[in-house]
Amino acid sequence: MASLQPVRGTHDLLAEDQRKHHFVIAAARQAAAHFGYAEIATPIFEFTEVFKRTLGETSDVVSKEMYSFQTKGEKEISLRPEGTAGIARAFISNGLAQTTPCKFFYQGPMFRHEAPQAGRYRQFHQIGVELLGPETALGDIEVISLGDHILKSLGLRDRTTLEINTLGDQDSRQAYRAALVQYFQGYKDQLSEDSQNRLERNPLRILDSKEESDRALVAEAPLFDDYLNSTSKDFFAQVCDALADLEIPFQRNPRLVRGLDYYCHTAFEFTTDALGSQGTVLAGGRYDGLIAMMGGPKTAGVGWAAGIERLALLADPVLAAPRPVTLIPVTSAQESLALKVVTDLRRQGFFADLGFSGNVTKRLKRAHKNGARAALILGEDELAEGKITFRDLESGEETRLPLEGLGVSLLEVCPDVKNSVS
Ligand code: ATP
Ligand code: MG
Repeated sequence: MASLQPVRGTHDLLAEDQRKHHFVIAAARQAAAHFGYAEIATPIFEFTEVFKRTLGETSDVVSKEMYSFQTKGEKEISLRPEGTAGIARAFISNGLAQTTPCKFFYQGPMFRHEAPQAGRYRQFHQIGVELLGPETALGDIEVISLGDHILKSLGLRDRTTLEINTLGDQDSRQAYRAALVQYFQGYKDQLSEDSQNRLERNPLRILDSKEESDRALVAEAPLFDDYLNSTSKDFFAQVCDALADLEIPFQRNPRLVRGLDYYCHTAFEFTTDALGSQGTVLAGGRYDGLIAMMGGPKTAGVGWAAGIERLALLADPVLAAPRPVTLIPVTSAQESLALKVVTDLRRQGFFADLGFSGNVTKRLKRAHKNGARAALILGEDELAEGKITFRDLESGEETRLPLEGLGVSLLEVCPDVKNSVS
């Protein structure tokens, strides 16, 4: 029945998937904490206005990909397509400008209505960081270094390339923009329809186009470098020099852009060729104009976001699941005691499972299937002695243990039972 399928582009994260997601999040969370970034969460929906203002009405995300809806008596609302807008909004709403620098880490689901394919979904998940306040290249260096650190801790850094570029300061960008408009005007008929629109509203975004016909023209377009003033060149040199000093390898990609007006100076992406056309795993840049453009106090910012699905696909970790000890009452007469024992073991920190139904053979089979490390079988005979049967599910060996102080004797006969993982 069609209605029992998940909505196109969405996925259930079953146990193994969810473990992989958590693996990525845990690595990122720990690295972020080491760098002094505090984890925050903003709502998964905001007034549509928040995204329109930050991403721009002409961006693909706002014009085509947003899930927007009207709620009773409220303004139009959208599911967040990315994290920066909500964090910028929260920074302003909570009056955090007094406490800069603000260093934020976040993770959670994002929503974009785009064509689903491997590594591209309609509900996907991101980790990301934002550094609000610092205007100097040190900020760019820190967030890139944090991205590098996380990819390293996931064992992925060798499989990615850090590409960086500069978009210069506002003066440089205006000069470049004018040169781009002049160049593309000459080939207007050959541009895709989208890019013809971009030519008027947002010419930098043409550089980002994935259309084949646009790409050919982009390859010959003027380069940003020729329009950078000395302030912009200095800023970029500081970033590049520091990365070299920190032994963070990178490649200059003069075509790398962020199309939106408030982006400036450093733009960067960690890319891979292992995921087909979904090659960007982590992308970011400096956005000094954003907070002011939203109506907040002028505040510089730099940050990045990375797709958890793409990181998990790339890392493809084989992750251990906990191996519980399973309580098996022989008949229903021992069920309530079994419940007590299992609760007690959990309180002592054991992974403990309850075989819910069936005879002992059936429950043992299920315990094996669930990867249990051991079974504790509770029958009338055992009870008469105040004991329980311990069965090692690896060796098949059995022994009786006193119910009194069970946790301690369990660890004696099977020392790895408490922290056992597959
Ligand atoms: P792309 O060029 O792949 O569409 P983007 O420029 O739209 O990416 P950003 O907005 O910079 O992506 O998002 C940062 C990261 O989030 C991407 O590099 C990618 O890892 C991930 N991402 C973006 N969109 C999706 C999606 N629809 N499904 C899965 N991951 C995504
Ligand atoms: Mg996209």
